[in-house]
Amino acid sequence: MKRILITGAAGFLGSHLCDRFYAEGYAVIAMDNLITGRLSNIEHLFGKKHFEFHHHDISKFIHVAGELDYILHFASPASPIDYLKIPIQTLKVGSLGTHNLLGLAKAKNARIMVASTSEVYGDPEVHPQTEDYWGNVNPIGPRGVYDEAKRFQEAITMAYHRYHEVETRIIRIFNTYGPRMRLNDGRVLPAFIGQALRGEDLTVFGDGSQTRSFCYVDDLVEGIYRLLHSDIADPINIGNPDEITIGEFAEEIIQLTGTSQKVIYEPLPTNDPKQRQPDISKAKSLLNWAPVVNRTEGLKVTYEYFKSLSEEMLYQKEHNNFEAYIRK
Ligand code: UDP
Repeated sequence: MKRILITGAAGFLGSHLCDRFYAEGYAVIAMDNLITGRLSNIEHLFGKKHFEFHHHDISKFIHVAGELDYILHFASPASPIDYLKIPIQTLKVGSLGTHNLLGLAKAKNARIMVASTSEVYGDPEVHPQTEDYWGNVNPIGPRGVYDEAKRFQEAITMAYHRYHEVETRIIRIFNTYGPRMRLNDGRVLPAFIGQALRGEDLTVFGDGSQTRSFCYVDDLVEGIYRLLHSDIADPINIGNPDEITIGEFAEEIIQLTGTSQKVIYEPLPTNDPKQRQPDISKAKSLLNWAPVVNRTEGLKVTYEYFKSLSEEMLYQKEHNNFEAYIRK
């Protein structure tokens, strides 16, 4: 039986990865410090024979007993609101946390995949974004703590690959959505659906002409699975190239939810990328991967999930433990 360590395991992506790898017959070691993750995302796995959970902050030394075959490093705050509130922790998990995990991978002779992001391209001047584009990032802007931590993460991962010959994989994840996103993490999809469910107007930032391309979580997980089992050390974009303006996206959510609320406009956040669409030629040719879930299907499932949440969660301002960590 293969053993896999998944960091950020109680988060949106991490919890889906725990499910997938557990279902594939792996022994799963889940790790999370629960700043933004929630145990409810993985509580259905508790008590299972080959599943264990470690409450640990990976920016500190990591101890895992026994052999390890794989590491998936998916721990990080991942929404603009989160990393504005916990900037130092965001920098630490991407830098110190990644360093600790690469050291662990080396010691255990394990293959490691790190979760990078389309944010390494910043506000891109190349469209769609190909993996060989170096990006247009403001290091000292509000997104700098995330973008630069992820760029450092890629650099140190390649250094461990080249210098220590660690088997590394780098996935550049584009906007992804699905059940278990936090309702109030500030991301556009939960923001719009939450507003519709509460009977509030939908807040479009800027004039709504900026674009994003949204990938359903199951497609992303399939891409991760294939990349992990490939022999590709260079970064690979995984995302859905179906690009849409945020204004059009708001209209889609209005249709989906049947809300009678309207769109209101608020100022565009600093350094908000104007356009984003993955070029997935590499994933297609090297992994034989492409997304299969269209937005209409994916949004329906996601809406059902948000509808099933309690009133209390719907009106809760925060679903996180920022306060406990803010002084560290
Ligand atoms: N956005 C918006 N209204 C909101 C939340 C976000 O118009 O209530 C916009 C945001 O300015 C950005 C896009 O939606 O242009 C996607 O934002 P998100 O935070 O989901 O992800 P990212 O900017 O990291 O792609």
